[in-house]
Amino acid sequence: MKTYLPPKFLVERDMDRCIRCKVCINQCSFDTHYYDEEDDQIQSIIGNCVGCHRCMTFCPTQAITIKKNQHQYRDNYNWRPEIIEDIIKQAETGGVILTGMGDDKGQTIYWDHLVLNASQVTNPSIDPLREPMELTTYLGSKPDKIELDGERNLKTLLPPQVKLDVPIMFAGMSYGAVSLQVQESLARAATEAGTLWDTGEGGLHPSLYKYKNNTTVQVASGRFGVHPKYLDVARVVEIKIGQGAKPGIGGHLPGEKVSAEVSSTRMIPMGTDALSPAPQHDIYSIEDLSQLVYALKEAVNYSKPISVKIAAVNNSAAIAVGMVKAGADIIVLDGLRGATGAAPKIIRDNVGIPIEMALASVDSRLRKEGIRNHASLVISGGIRNSGDVAKAIALGADAVYIGTAALIALGCRLCQQCHTGKCAWGICTTDPLLSKRINPDIGSRRLVNLLHAWSIELQEMMGGMGINALESLRGNRLQLRGIGLTDSELAVLGVRMAGD
Ligand code: SF4
Ligand code: SF4
Repeated sequence: MKTYLPPKFLVERDMDRCIRCKVCINQCSFDTHYYDEEDDQIQSIIGNCVGCHRCMTFCPTQAITIKKNQHQYRDNYNWRPEIIEDIIKQAETGGVILTGMGDDKGQTIYWDHLVLNASQVTNPSIDPLREPMELTTYLGSKPDKIELDGERNLKTLLPPQVKLDVPIMFAGMSYGAVSLQVQESLARAATEAGTLWDTGEGGLHPSLYKYKNNTTVQVASGRFGVHPKYLDVARVVEIKIGQGAKPGIGGHLPGEKVSAEVSSTRMIPMGTDALSPAPQHDIYSIEDLSQLVYALKEAVNYSKPISVKIAAVNNSAAIAVGMVKAGADIIVLDGLRGATGAAPKIIRDNVGIPIEMALASVDSRLRKEGIRNHASLVISGGIRNSGDVAKAIALGADAVYIGTAALIALGCRLCQQCHTGKCAWGICTTDPLLSKRINPDIGSRRLVNLLHAWSIELQEMMGGMGINALESLRGNRLQLRGIGLTDSELAVLGVRMAGD
């Protein structure tokens, strides 16, 4: 059927600069460029371009510019261009519109409406270049009180703790959704930076067992790749109940991405769709969740924290209380702007709540119940820079996960084509030729650099506040003020208005 959709991007080629090297043809996995022998020129089929910037980045003479196709529709606030185009797509395919990456609809990003404090005359600032600044974070349940013996040694037996050198971990991105080279880059970077990476729900390839001290493994509803060795090599075991990009629905890895290696890692037949059910079929109550938490604690001999991840939804605070009472050592909240390899667009853009609101309400509720110390609180879903990290810690998070930011560091340009498996940057693909575009030596270096840069910035911000340990910023909402927010929004965030 002929499509009625106009091209989204224009490909402009400066013919004076183009040396016909054909790099663009080789780099584009969406078959946009071709060589026209008759004219001895490279031509482009602009309707194929998804705006991933791969060809533009690698063109040796900077001959290519990718521009948004600014075709005009008659102004109509109800029938906006995207809505019209989605209807055209569905009229042509008869199917659910799938998409990759996170919600891009512009709901309020509360991080941009929060500002951090800085010391001036009293409580002077600290110079992070000259004074030690502590970013170390321990994840895991903490006891209500501790006892020391006569020699001031700790007498209380602590539940298992995980030490992070930086309060930033890499979010779960499964093998199959991303390439093995991406996972290796994340695992190596986490090991070097003293933090954790997360397998996501696709099992763990044996070549990555060596990163065991820095690996969180997921147990999701599909139970893909869950076996004794998998639990044995984990530093943290994470039960995945929900995901911010698609709360309330399951996962779907299309059969085309289930290669021989993906199939053996996930323990499913090659080429079959990997469907994780929406619910965990053995969890219908907090008591059921508790049984799985304690089954996993038994399986790992109570030696590692058990984490439970949910999507941020209306009643996250009440659910979080139940999760802590069910024995979770770490609670993970994944917000509305969290990314995905593939999700129905309508769910991604319309279900869930912003992570800032979920974090503030969960932290407050756990404090009110007197159980905040029983579990660490980790958040994810749209953390973009160290400013967001500092604000998240001040709002009550112990640590954050980054997913999209890590992929951008590896090359991702948010073209939202992850579900096609054709990622030109070699990230969201299992195609062996495309996957090779990520070199774990280079990828891990880029990720370590990112964490290092954010750590320095965090220390600068803490120093400015006169704080020399992250522990003093955690849940310290007095260090935050709101701008351009309503009284109700400030009340949920538990933050005062700027100037107050
Ligand atoms: S899809 Fe990417 S690589 Fe292909 S033409 Fe567009 S920007 Fe270039
Ligand atoms: S991972 Fe690849 S396919 Fe997905 S948004 Fe990024 S560049 Fe596009």
